[in-house]
Formats: sequence, structure tokens, C-alpha cells
Amino acid sequence: MGKDFIRFIAGAVCPSCKELDKIAITPDDQTIYCLNCDFKEHKPVESTVNKAKPSEAQVFNMEDFRPKKS
Ligand SMILES: [Zn+2]
Repeated sequence: MGKDFIRFIAGAVCPSCKELDKIAITPDDQTIYCLNCDFKEHKPVESTVNKAKPSEAQVFNMEDFRPKKS
């Protein structure tokens, strides 16, 4: 139990029927689909990675500014 729950993508708009918050992602993270219509698409992995990049840079900066006391 708990394995077949639907994971929605918050704020996602279906490109087919234009409904908000109807886009879900499959448990294997490979496909997004719409609950309101027949839309189904392979997950656009690259754009998701690009959006996540800034937080990675912040981690680097925190390391940089950390006072070095030994
Ligand atoms: Zn749709």
C-alpha cells in the first residue's frame, strides 16, 4: 500500500486540455500524463534539471563563505 498513489505536478498545466493541476507523473518518473484527457508525454528531464541548478550553486557558496577555524 502507498505505492500506487498518484503524484501530481503542482502548478502544471496540461498542454492538451489546458487544465491546471491535472498533470501527474508515473511512479517510475519517466512519463507525465493528464487525468483530465488522454495527454501523455515522456518527461522533459533536461528542463527540470536546469531549474534545479541554482540551489546547487547556493550549496557551493555556503562552503565558500564558511569561516575556516581549526
Ligand atoms: Zn489534459
